[in-house]
Amino acid sequence: MTIIYMFLFFLYGLIFGSFFNVVGLRIPKKESIVHPPSHCTICDRRLTIKDLVPVFSYVFLKGKCRGCGTKIHWVYPVMELVTGLLFTFAYYQLGFTLELAVALLFISLLVIITVSDIAYMLIPDKILVFFLIPLIVLRVFVPLSPWWDSIIGAFVGFGVLFLIAVVSKGGMGGGDIKLFFVIGLVLGSIPTLLTLFLASIIGTVVGIISLRRTKQGRKTPIPFGPSIALAAIVSYFYGEMLVDWYVNLFF
Ligand SMILES: [Zn+2]
Repeated sequence: MTIIYMFLFFLYGLIFGSFFNVVGLRIPKKESIVHPPSHCTICDRRLTIKDLVPVFSYVFLKGKCRGCGTKIHWVYPVMELVTGLLFTFAYYQLGFTLELAVALLFISLLVIITVSDIAYMLIPDKILVFFLIPLIVLRVFVPLSPWWDSIIGAFVGFGVLFLIAVVSKGGMGGGDIKLFFVIGLVLGSIPTLLTLFLASIIGTVVGIISLRRTKQGRKTPIPFGPSIALAAIVSYFYGEMLVDWYVNLFF
């Protein structure tokens, strides 16, 4: 039975991932997420069922629009696949629990902000607030232990990022700061600090790789959101384990 449900969660993840691409691309531009229907942004060709099957369409079309041959960004199929895998993994780890709802919402939020941060260097407030409200309600019913660690986490996340922003004079975007408030609420204080630590490492690695690839020097800014998202997912599922392991190295 578990296998069947895992397969279903994978399918849901693919479909939701495809929808999250649309949300992440349209909300920052203040466009409706339902109108107009999906179309090629270059030639305006309306996409049909054949173009809209998550991941498969991309492979089948060899990553090109059927109308004008414009390359489709690899981020779309990757985010679909990632959402599918993360939904499956969340179900596998948590089963049908209320915490699964927290995990699915958290994953959804992180996928959407990854898309919009890659596309526009922007994490929209609308998205943060949309997910913040149900996450607060859920954390009342499935609290961390102790329950107030959610509140501490939210303020630690927000506070530390705010300090970094002040010290680095704008090296940290406002969206990143607010995102860390939501992360703190979901994860609690220690895993939130772990998220920041991991995100810095991932961000540095990404920075070095893209510097080498573009050779444009330091001037092209790199969105920090995707690194935060990846770090937050790792902390959510393995934070406690990683912190225990690290502490045991010394004591
Ligand atoms: Zn086109």
